[in-house]
Amino acid sequence: MTDADAAPCSVGVVVVAAGSGTRLGAGLPKAFVPLAGRPLLGHAVATVTRLPGLRALVVVAPADLNDPGAPEWAGVHLPPDAVVVAGGASRTDSVAAGLAAVGEVDVVLVHDAARCLTPLAVFERVVEAVRAGAAGAVPGIPLVDTVKTVDATGVITGTPDRASLRAVQTPQGFGREVLVAAYRSGLAATDDAALVELAGHHVVVVEGDPLAFKVTTRDDLEHAERVLAERAGPAAAGLPD
Ligand code: C5P
Repeated sequence: MTDADAAPCSVGVVVVAAGSGTRLGAGLPKAFVPLAGRPLLGHAVATVTRLPGLRALVVVAPADLNDPGAPEWAGVHLPPDAVVVAGGASRTDSVAAGLAAVGEVDVVLVHDAARCLTPLAVFERVVEAVRAGAAGAVPGIPLVDTVKTVDATGVITGTPDRASLRAVQTPQGFGREVLVAAYRSGLAATDDAALVELAGHHVVVVEGDPLAFKVTTRDDLEHAERVLAERAGPAAAGLPD
């Protein structure tokens, strides 16, 4: 056993669920859209609460829907010490609000409620990489398509080597102090890892999972429904035995 294996490690998870989800067109914030009878957020929380070492869970909800007693929260089973805070206009604002409430933990994971079927093993791989010494770790999967860069007129300017590209997912994990400092820097970036990279740290990619896809469109929601139906068995999926 290495020192890293032996070190105790407390984990705080910030689940961001404050997006409006207009692309889904469901008439309520995306994280509260039902999937197999429970909100996307309920599925995400059910996985997070099984994470070994979980010390703190913060859910960042829309400002007008941050009462876990509201009917929209039915099916979201929060542990008694979970904290719910109001999110902001951007995902960055929402993560900052969650970080402010997470308390003293060694590792913080930031997870999109919209990636509601992310397997527990992905969370564990991210925690393990940070626990082993990485400043940050994010799950990623190889790309199946060739990617092009283009200029403003649509002319291709380059073809990056696909072998060096990864599509990244959440949860993204960091040493708490690293992430707090990166957020304090006031830098802008499209994901938490990029902020930490801009602050000069090395962030590693661990193996992601296709099931960590983000529910964005109706098609994604239907895909998630099919995954759960198949898991429940052929009868539930409407398939022949
Ligand atoms: O909009 P998008 O699907 O990229 O959002 C990713 C995650 O960030 C979602 O779980 C969404 O609820 C969350 N989010 C948030 N606050 C915002 C925007 C997005 O918590 N202002």
